[in-house]
Formats: sequence, C-alpha cells, structure tokens
Amino acid sequence: MGITSLDNTFVASTYGRFPIELDHGKGAKLIDTNGKEYIDMGTGIAVNVFGVCDDEWTAAVKAQLNKLAHTSNLYYTEPCAKLAEILCEKTGMKKVFFSNSGAEANECAIKTARRYSFKKYGEGRSTIVTLKQSFHGRTVTTLAATGQDSFHTEFGPFTEGFVYAEANNASSVIDLAKSNNACAVMMELVQGEGGVMRLDQAFVTAVAEYCNKNDVLLIIDEVQTGNGRTGSLYAFEQFGIKPDIVSTAKGLGGGLPIGATMFGEKTKDVLTPGSHGSTFGGNPVCCAGAYNIISRIDSKLLADVKAKSEYIFKELNGAKGVKSVSGMGLMIGIETEKDAKEVVAACQEKGVLVLTAKTKVRLLPPLNITVQELEKAVNVIKECVK
Ligand SMILES: *Cc1c(COP(=O)(O)O)cnc(C)c1O
Repeated sequence: MGITSLDNTFVASTYGRFPIELDHGKGAKLIDTNGKEYIDMGTGIAVNVFGVCDDEWTAAVKAQLNKLAHTSNLYYTEPCAKLAEILCEKTGMKKVFFSNSGAEANECAIKTARRYSFKKYGEGRSTIVTLKQSFHGRTVTTLAATGQDSFHTEFGPFTEGFVYAEANNASSVIDLAKSNNACAVMMELVQGEGGVMRLDQAFVTAVAEYCNKNDVLLIIDEVQTGNGRTGSLYAFEQFGIKPDIVSTAKGLGGGLPIGATMFGEKTKDVLTPGSHGSTFGGNPVCCAGAYNIISRIDSKLLADVKAKSEYIFKELNGAKGVKSVSGMGLMIGIETEKDAKEVVAACQEKGVLVLTAKTKVRLLPPLNITVQELEKAVNVIKECVK
C-alpha cells in the first residue's frame, strides 16, 4: 500500500489531510514524494520557526541526541535548566514549567491559577474568564476553556469553571469576572484559530488593569503568538502588559514537541514538589532545540519579521479578491471573496502551502523565509485569490 492508503487505513481519521505526501525539505522549501516543490507558508502551524532542516537547530538537536535523549524529571540536565534561564532572562518571567504541547502548557496555567487562588482565598474562587472565539487546546479542560460552541458538543461533560466574555469588550470581561468571583482571565492576544483577530490595545490594557487591581491572574496564551511570530519574542511585550502566567508551545521547539508555562512574581512558587509533573516535560533533546531557537530570536530577526509583515500587508491589502487582512507580524489572516478552501487548493496546485483559520486564509511562514521565496509565494496567493 502507498503512504496515503496506509494512513487512511491505520491512522485514526481525526484529520482532513490534503492530498500531499511530504517527504523532505530545507528552510521554507518542502518537497513531496512526487518531487514537487512547495513554498511553505504554514510551518506546520507556526512550529518550524526557521523552516525545516535548519542547520544550526539540527546540529543542536543532534549533539544532544548523541549525549542523552531522556532522563525523567528525577534528575537535573543542562538543556532544561539553560532553556528556563534564557526564557526568564528574555521575558522577565521568573520560573518555567516544561510540558509537551500547547494544551498541556494551558492545563498547567489553569491548575496554577486555581491553586494560587485556593491557597490565598479558599474555595469558591476558581472560575476563569476566557474569550469567545478563543482556542486553548483539545484536552477536556482546555476545550472547556475554548470559547467556541462548536467544540462543546459530543464530548461532555466538560470541566466546570469557565465563562466566555466578548473579545474587545472590557466590561464583558470585568462583569463576568466579578459575578463569578473569578481567579483568572485567560486570552490570546491574537486569536489564531478564531480567525487571526488581534485584540484592541485599549481592551487589553483595561483587562490587565482590572486583573492587577483585583488580584485576578492574567494568563496569556502565547502558544501560537509566541517565539518571535508577531514581531517580538512574545506578543505581550508589544501590548505593554505584565502577565502573571504565559503559556507557549508550537514554535518554541522549532519542530520538536515542547510546551512551557512561564510564571511571574506572584505565581512562581505556586506549584510545589508533587503538585504537577510530566514524564517527558523538559526533555533534553527538545530543550536543546528550543534553546537554539530562543537564542536566535534577536532584535535583527524581529525587525526582519516586521518588515516582511509590512510587505505582506501592503501587497495584499486592496488586492483583487481580498476583503481584508488581519493579524500581527508573520501571523496573518486574509479574508477573501473566494472560499478560503478553494484558495488553499489553488495555491497548492501552484506550489505554495497556505492554511485556513475559520473562513480566512492564514499565513504563518518561517521567520527567516528569504525575500525571494516570500515574493514568489505572495504573487501566487494574489493570483489565486482574484
Ligand atoms: C495550537 C494552540 C493550542 C494547542 O496547542 P497543542 O500543541 O495543539 O496542544 C493552544 N492555544 C493556542 C492559542 C493555539 O494556537
């Protein structure tokens, strides 16, 4: 049997895969089993920060593989400690818990917020306000945190203690936080899966101020927006806020699975020995790869991300067939006149891989995509949307 039939027969049918069997690649270039080349404007959903097979990242991962691949969290290892240090140094956060995915990073954030509040205020202060159109993961609890009804059928009962406020409506968040005696507000600063919707600065400022004044923890989900994607290491930096907890994953490992939950001053010692854990969390190989990624997201790269972002906005805003362009940095949503799925298929045909988010076409290219590749991809997209 070929790859496609094997997969369709033996892999659980949770994904609507495209009719493409990817085989190998370099940077933003991917090659399928027929030898067809594609420019990758999706990076495995914001994961491959420096594209695939990046030389430096591959070398860092290989070096660690040749030393030690796994130890359990009963012992200390250098990559885990060094990654936590560089994350704290670069973000101002104080401590980090490592897991293996975005959903787990959010689970840890939720557990931490509830424990913080329980220890300080006792029972009955455990609700978390999240936003409508949010996405926080696929576990039963992170689905409960996700403010989209379509995720809340058939898998119930869900974890209690989540209420959903209107994005960009501060009084909606504040009213729900008050009436539910909330312990935390959790949100993405650019709602990725919800349609690449950037939150308004005034809304974010107002929510952050309310949280700060009322000892309601502010949890920012940077699973998709993090790791250089929006033009700063983490998007919260550009909103001028100081979250109590930041979760991230996707791009952090540069292609290997790792999640991180970062704690600020208030939350850094909430989790104590035995209160939380993960067998693979802090895996040395994943941490060595992640350290390489985080150490290379510097001001030069971030300026480049912003320049590339401006180029994409300029080219697509007002282009024929484009209704609007949204997002931040290299996380971009395009509202098209044509059906987004049709645009995706047409782009694939012409050798460009793009994604969708709700009814939009979504772009998440490698941060180091070359100008030539980017221009080529944007021209194909313009051709396919008109
Ligand atoms: C992808 C995503 C998640 C879930 O991450 P997984 O690694 O798939 O568990 C959570 N939050 C946001 C904002 C995401 O984009």
